[in-house]
Amino acid sequence: MTKPPVAANTLDLIGNTPLVLLEGPSEAAGCEIWGKCEFANPGASVKDRAALWIVRDAEARGELQPGGTVVEGTAGNTGIGLALVANALGYKTVIVMPDNQSSEKMATLRALGAELVTVPPTKFADPNHFVHTSRRLAEDTPGAIWANQFDNVANRRAHIEGTAAEIWEQMEGRVHGFTCAVGTGGTLAGVAMGLKEKDEAVRIALTDPHGAALYNYFENGELKAEGSSVAEGIGQGRITANIEGAPIDTQFRISDEEGLEWVGRLLREEGMCLGLSAGINVAGAIALGRQLVADGVEDPRVATILCDTGFRYLSTLYNAEWLRRKGLPVFDWLGSD
Ligand code: PMP
Repeated sequence: MTKPPVAANTLDLIGNTPLVLLEGPSEAAGCEIWGKCEFANPGASVKDRAALWIVRDAEARGELQPGGTVVEGTAGNTGIGLALVANALGYKTVIVMPDNQSSEKMATLRALGAELVTVPPTKFADPNHFVHTSRRLAEDTPGAIWANQFDNVANRRAHIEGTAAEIWEQMEGRVHGFTCAVGTGGTLAGVAMGLKEKDEAVRIALTDPHGAALYNYFENGELKAEGSSVAEGIGQGRITANIEGAPIDTQFRISDEEGLEWVGRLLREEGMCLGLSAGINVAGAIALGRQLVADGVEDPRVATILCDTGFRYLSTLYNAEWLRRKGLPVFDWLGSD
């Protein structure tokens, strides 16, 4: 183990996350599968990076002034990242969230001092959708900026300059594939662009949950969603500015059941407690690894994102009654009654 890093302040703790070799997934794929430990960020998710880049970008443009407010619509993790960054820099945060997201995320946002506004989950076309509500709130609040993570490309720059550069360095330039799911698309597009800049041959895959439209879009040009997923923070129905132009070579669709199986195995066999998007990403990485092996790539190495901590989902993914209510298999160690 190398010397642990020393940071000048909390913001310096964002990024530079470890990369871990995933044993079970590597065995299943027949090649090395690596996970980027984004749960190790101060806000315990990949979204701390986007939060920091968006705030720094707004400061650099002169839009965010001392004492100002950051307003955002989010499934929760971006809000947590923004609240941490804003606290460290002396800004206020107002967060709009659909009320079907985990209670842990809402409690965390309140604990961090963010002003929390919840709205019913609706389609993007509805003017009361959390994204539109947050834009209106920002417009009506003096001294506020709207973070606009979906269409603000400072988000994907965080992953070009941060995540992709770190993966390239950590894998010493020997990376053959990368995949992850899409919420805003900042992670997938940013890492894809950053890695392709280093090596055009790195194969980039979209891993979509059911209920999202991008799998069909990249498969046959049709933005059409089928089915549904309980995964929080992923599953996109439109081409956001962040995903626009992302160099995507192939795509996989992964069920909640398959994602959950990997969440359970990573917990029991490798000691990592993760959210469902991480399990779906790992299943996608295995599919990509198998594809590279089948295509004759010698000893391919695939990277993916372990997006957030499972402690954020104790009342859902790790709760037998909730799993049963959703018609999902219950982890056997959670009890059978
Ligand atoms: N997983 C989780 C748990 C998330 O909260 C998010 C962000 N919405 C993502 C994955 C997807 O990240 P991105 O917004 O960069 O596409």
